[in-house]
Amino acid sequence: MLSSGVGTVRDMVVSYEKALALVREKVSNADFNPATETLPLEQARGRVLAEDVFADRDYPPFHRATRDGIAVRSADVGVLPAVLRSVGEVRAGQHFPGKLAPGQCVVITTGAPVPVGADAVVMLEYTQARGELVEILRAVSLWENIVQQGNEAPTGARVLSRGRRLGPGELGLLASVGRARVTVYRQPVVAIVPTGDEVLPVEQQPKWFQIRNSNAVSLSAQVAAAGGVPRQLGIAPDLKDPLRELIQEGLCSDLLVLSGGVSVGKYDLVEEALREFGAEFYFQGVAMRPGKPLVFGRACGKFFFGLPGNPVSTFVTFELFVRPAIGLLGGATFEPPVFLRARLAKPLRQKTGLTVFMPAEVRVQSGEPMVELVGWQGSGDLVGAAAANCFLVVHPEQTDLAAGDWVDVLPKPA
Ligand code: AMP
Ligand code: MG
Repeated sequence: MLSSGVGTVRDMVVSYEKALALVREKVSNADFNPATETLPLEQARGRVLAEDVFADRDYPPFHRATRDGIAVRSADVGVLPAVLRSVGEVRAGQHFPGKLAPGQCVVITTGAPVPVGADAVVMLEYTQARGELVEILRAVSLWENIVQQGNEAPTGARVLSRGRRLGPGELGLLASVGRARVTVYRQPVVAIVPTGDEVLPVEQQPKWFQIRNSNAVSLSAQVAAAGGVPRQLGIAPDLKDPLRELIQEGLCSDLLVLSGGVSVGKYDLVEEALREFGAEFYFQGVAMRPGKPLVFGRACGKFFFGLPGNPVSTFVTFELFVRPAIGLLGGATFEPPVFLRARLAKPLRQKTGLTVFMPAEVRVQSGEPMVELVGWQGSGDLVGAAAANCFLVVHPEQTDLAAGDWVDVLPKPA
């Protein structure tokens, strides 16, 4: 075992859960202050709020009918059938000027303000019009089919907090409270450095022993999906000097992500090169497959990840650890990977002692989510992995799983 002063290399191999906790702890506690900018809503999708947002008025702003029907005083319809006198109609975009007296009702549409005096809406289906009279065939309870003024949010209530990522739903909420512009955090710039003598730019024709730089392409897309700005640096050969130069350049970004060169082979130089920048390593391996060689640390004040080079390993380890780190660097609250549950289609045995992520397909069968592994040739197999829509997660203690057992799945990001 190698001794490194603070601990052994083996000490630096941590469980999946511990690795994620370390990413959260180190990045959350880092002293940094992301800059902000104010954007129109159309440009804010996927960005992270840098301010709290408050209700500018009550929501709903009036007692709102949630059904087409008859607005009534609920006390009037206690005994059925009740016959009420219709004194008007109110549609969304209008308001009823008067006040409902006992025995009266008003025809109302969904979204319209409930007339003063009314406190329930009877669905149209349960009423019968007879000239000016309306027969009510069903009882309603107080406030039935109405959302009372301010019940969603009263004036001044916080409707969104700083750190929230803005998806379509949040943008709709911002629009509804009159925020045409919002202040968001600047997106972190993420430098991408693929390594390997065999790795060739996609545009070039590889010789039979060379492979195309697919990782830089998938990593760029993942960085963008995580809310970062990808910055492609060149491909680093397995040579100290050029690797060092690219790392130096990468450490000028907010985060540096390297792929390949983190195993224990003679040409795996990434850790050594990082050490020359005074790198502190928080872990140097995770007890998982794929992705056992995986490093996370900090150098020159910047965080870095060294991901294993196999394309499926790179992809999975990014989703598990780099994505939440980019979120935190971009001012978002911690967004950990969320595992869903499905039933295993076929029995599964594993005695690796690792957390294992395998490409799989989940589909609904007889109303239940069933998950089945796709055929693949291991973590270099992008073709096999492309057939998957999720990763089946098997935890170290799950050595013997039967068909029908509930298991975790990590959905594959779009
Ligand atoms: P390494 O982690 O450097 O040992 O690489 C593991 C495997 O991933 C090898 O088969 C590499 O050829 C492959 N690989 C490394 N970098 C890339 C890349 N940028 N794009 C595609 N495959 C890669
Ligand atoms: Mg390599």
